[in-house]
Amino acid sequence: MYVCGLTVQGPPHIGHVRFAIAFDVLRRWLMSTGHEVTYVRNVTDVDDKILAKADAAGVPWWAWAYENERAATRAYDVLGTLPPTYEPRATGHVPEMVELIQRLIAGGHAYAVGGDVYFDVRSFPGYGELTGQKLGELQPAADTETDERKRDPRDFALWKAAKDGEPGTASWSTPWGRGRPGWHLECSAMAERYLGPEFDVHGGGLDLRFPHHENERAQSQAAGDGFARYWLHNGWVTMGGEKMSKSLGNTALVDEVVQRVRPVELRYYLAAPHYRSMIEFTEAALTEAATAYQRMESFVGRAVEQVGAGGQVDPPAEWTYWAQFAAAMDDDLSTPAAVAVVHDVARQGNKGLADGDPVLVAQALGLVRRMLGVLGLDPLDPQWTDAGGDSRLAQATDGLVQLALEQRTAARARKDYASADAIRNQLGALGVQVEDTPQGTRWELS
Ligand SMILES: [Zn+2]
Repeated sequence: MYVCGLTVQGPPHIGHVRFAIAFDVLRRWLMSTGHEVTYVRNVTDVDDKILAKADAAGVPWWAWAYENERAATRAYDVLGTLPPTYEPRATGHVPEMVELIQRLIAGGHAYAVGGDVYFDVRSFPGYGELTGQKLGELQPAADTETDERKRDPRDFALWKAAKDGEPGTASWSTPWGRGRPGWHLECSAMAERYLGPEFDVHGGGLDLRFPHHENERAQSQAAGDGFARYWLHNGWVTMGGEKMSKSLGNTALVDEVVQRVRPVELRYYLAAPHYRSMIEFTEAALTEAATAYQRMESFVGRAVEQVGAGGQVDPPAEWTYWAQFAAAMDDDLSTPAAVAVVHDVARQGNKGLADGDPVLVAQALGLVRRMLGVLGLDPLDPQWTDAGGDSRLAQATDGLVQLALEQRTAARARKDYASADAIRNQLGALGVQVEDTPQGTRWELS
């Protein structure tokens, strides 16, 4: 799979990371059905906006890009997306881009004017096919450079000559002079570098269909590659009906949203709707998603208390839940239908809890966890139970707190309330809140 990653010009909002969750779910589903997946997600780390923003902030462009790349990585990680197999940066693949341009020029599909190199759209008969447009009816895309030296106004830049006043580190030496890559070319070069001339799935946001993906496909196929066999495009996150975007000011940064709901709940919010649908962001919808996730999570928690998390119990032969779940996932990744099946199984499990039927509880627990695992939402995944930290450390911490609580219980038993209170206060000072309940003493980090 090749998935277009972010242009690292600012910290990501939730609209920026929706694609990462959509394609992480696809990847996990393919893996769970026995496919080996090589997952490439690029980083666009040099472009006009990065240069302009870094200049305005008075920092080197590459420092600006790197800081925002790290913010993107933190957002991908906090939302539980598996790390890509490879995560190439555009700036690290200039030789591959130059080689691709040379092939296109040699084949009569590209031409250099001054230090710029353009793709000749009329040289590629399939131009427009990806998005169902005929070349004759196509207008130049909004981001296409106006340049009277172009053979056709719809021709787009493969390579851009360095401009006066731009930092020297933002351009590379090529047969056409110093310059930097056109955005579309980066993806063609990096997809071929890591996946070869033909690969299965190309993913990205809906707004990338045209011109970005149309242009990627034109470049790669004109250069003789088969390129992607399947294209998938995820819908946007909207706010007030408009695509979330920094220029409109209607954004919710990932860092901010995960202060209001837990990351796993945000993941559920973004993963449960169909990947092609638009998600209108409201606080009410976010809260509703968190509550829906908590229902499944609460079943898992209570089931584990009763039957333990370890043993998988095969579901009864007459259950068709897994078949329903698989059919939904195979039907263009229909996560709404798949999630509905998980809720159905959790309801069965809750019935088992109410009826005191540990076999039913264990059967439902195993299936719920397996399905949620495919969606990256298993509440018992260490990603969510200890915030991605070291699970041995979490176990040791729990053991140490339990040790202290035993000392406290012993002190109370011998009516040494001063010692018991001292233990509780010392734990409190370490951020460990102790609560005595009819079921026993519980603790949590404050
Ligand atoms: Zn791309």
